[in-house]
Amino acid sequence: MKAFIHLGCRWMPEGAYYKAFKAEAEVVEGNASDLLWDLTIYRYALQKVVDALWDLDGLPKKSQLHQMFYPVLREYGFRAHVARNIYSYALALVKAAKNSNGDKPKIKRLSARLDHQDARVELDKGVVKVVLRNKQYTLRLKHRREYIERFRNLKWKEVHVKYENKKVFVSIVFEVRYNPYVPKGLTAVDVNLRTVTTFDGSETRRYRTRFVEALSKKARAEEIQKRYSKRWRYNEKTLNRVRALHRKARNIITDFCWKLAKEVVAKAYRQKHAIALEDLEYLRNSINGKSSGVRWRLTLFAYRKLQHTIIAKSIEYNVPVVVVDPRNTSSICPRCGSKLIYVSRLAICRKCEFKRDRDFVGAINIYLRGMWGSIGSSPNGGGMKNETRQTTPNRNEPMTTYIKSYTSI
Ligand SMILES: [Zn+2]
Repeated sequence: MKAFIHLGCRWMPEGAYYKAFKAEAEVVEGNASDLLWDLTIYRYALQKVVDALWDLDGLPKKSQLHQMFYPVLREYGFRAHVARNIYSYALALVKAAKNSNGDKPKIKRLSARLDHQDARVELDKGVVKVVLRNKQYTLRLKHRREYIERFRNLKWKEVHVKYENKKVFVSIVFEVRYNPYVPKGLTAVDVNLRTVTTFDGSETRRYRTRFVEALSKKARAEEIQKRYSKRWRYNEKTLNRVRALHRKARNIITDFCWKLAKEVVAKAYRQKHAIALEDLEYLRNSINGKSSGVRWRLTLFAYRKLQHTIIAKSIEYNVPVVVVDPRNTSSICPRCGSKLIYVSRLAICRKCEFKRDRDFVGAINIYLRGMWGSIGSSPNGGGMKNETRQTTPNRNEPMTTYIKSYTSI
């Protein structure tokens, strides 16, 4: 029974999650070149505060910080609240760099972070209003109406305004409350390069992925980059070709992930099921070094994208998500726990004569692990909701990092 002893499951904790809306924007009120100027001063001032903090022996307290930098930032014309944000942000950057023994942070981007006091989000009108110094700007979001609609009822936390490649971009960070329901069952999702297989305890479904198509484009782009080594950066034609390939690959993957996640999560929601996924963080750590080839890296990129998208959709629908130990999901017999042998993609158990294809084996093993985790961790064996979360805080670590990067696009 060795096969059934594993690291256990981690349920995605309920609570607040962040979801970013990103769009190109057009300055419709105020002047774009004034905005660019404000952002330039913002970057300059932020860097100056970082430089000053970096040279100190110890980091100052909040009140000292205020005394040190507030007057000078106000001299630059920043609004009181923006000035406070600048020095707090600079302190956070310096702290993070010093804690990780990194180099002094260098602010490259022309961007500013604003919150409720200096920004107004009016999604019904499709605009965001911001003030950095003494001028107000109205930025119209250039994005599909339907896409903007999806964020209408959410609470926003922060607005980032950025200038890049001669364009203005806005990203708005929204807060999403995630209150997963108590599941009545489980749907396991097994991701492979060519197929995604789901198993809900009785029914198996297969979906063809578009990963190979996307990966071949990415591989092609990397090949060109390698061939031209440093030179490719300077040749515009080559550069455009590389960019186009990366963009196409990304679009294929994003498009596929959204469609699939929507279908899988909506079905789980209708059945009031939880969704079980493999822990990709674990997979990455265990495989690092062994096969760090381009192909593997790209594959992992696609898998992660799909998992993120499934998690993002689950948060939206309050579908519970459980992440299981991925070790040996396709090499162990789900019936008796013996090692499987493979004839091409067909898995055979010599001991109990179980015979199924590889994808199904993966899905059923994920299913079993997810079920085991939910029943085993609940004292009455009933509800799946208040399980291992509190008892295994350390195992929540990678999951948190996982979700931090969760965005909707
Ligand atoms: Zn067996």
